[in-house]
Amino acid sequence: MESLFSLAGKVAVVTGANTGLGQAIAVALARAGADVAAVGRSPSDETGRAVEAAGRRFLAVSADLATTEPIPRIVAETTAALGGIDILVNNAGIIRRADALDFTEADWDAVIDTNLKSAFFLSQAAAKAMLQRGGGKIVNIASMLSFQGGIRVASYTASKSGLAGLTKLLANEWAGRGINVNAIAPGYFETNNTEALRADEGRSREILGRIPAGRWGRPEDLGGAAVFLASAASDYMHGAIVPVDGGWLAR
Ligand code: NAP
Repeated sequence: MESLFSLAGKVAVVTGANTGLGQAIAVALARAGADVAAVGRSPSDETGRAVEAAGRRFLAVSADLATTEPIPRIVAETTAALGGIDILVNNAGIIRRADALDFTEADWDAVIDTNLKSAFFLSQAAAKAMLQRGGGKIVNIASMLSFQGGIRVASYTASKSGLAGLTKLLANEWAGRGINVNAIAPGYFETNNTEALRADEGRSREILGRIPAGRWGRPEDLGGAAVFLASAASDYMHGAIVPVDGGWLAR
């Protein structure tokens, strides 16, 4: 059973792995046996120490995914240092909050470019590297707002609904070529991304009151789903958007 979930000998690229969900996913993948390339604009030393403590190789790739410009270098640096790419986790993401009536074009573009455009073009570049090794696994980090509308987060909802659609499109195109494309839709987790929500007492109470598990998610709650979708255990899964949400969507 252990070998079904083993990532031994695999190389994983995780974007936005310096903190929050990306960090927890990177560490979980390393504990399951994968070497990890952490891609991001802030230093990911803490993640590096945890990956190396798990006995795996670690590479930090400094890149700002607000544009697609660094993508060829991300693939080249990872391949040169770690030998190839087997797993890509598109986790880096931002959120901007404003009423739809006041929402600016800058807040629209920043979120769509980071959360959706870079995820697509990094998937495209990584898939080419994966095909050289006979296949791979892509895991997109979606959201409850891949299913629901949300409020005051127009570009975020558009980006995460888009990412869910893209997950299915890429699964359709690449399933027959040995690449699994799936997504995890986290519920409400305690990270920088939800700091404003948690600071707002009213919103925080409302959200907590609707989570059947009775608590916000902790980043390490995502590790199991990430390892599953990155491993042979999910070889027949394509285009799924898997909620890890304490039951939020079941309400
Ligand atoms: P977070 O702590 O804010 O982490 C976001 C990560 O993305 C950070 O590593 C951040 O790097 C990176 N990032 C943002 N813009 C980037 C850019 N231009 N280039 C490179 N890296 C960039 O929030 P999180 O909650 O862990 O978010 C991770 C993912 O989960 C996001 O896609 C988010 O939408 C999604 N998500 C979160 C929740 C939740 O409840 N927390 C729920 C559903 C989905 P810096 O540190 O340099 O900014």
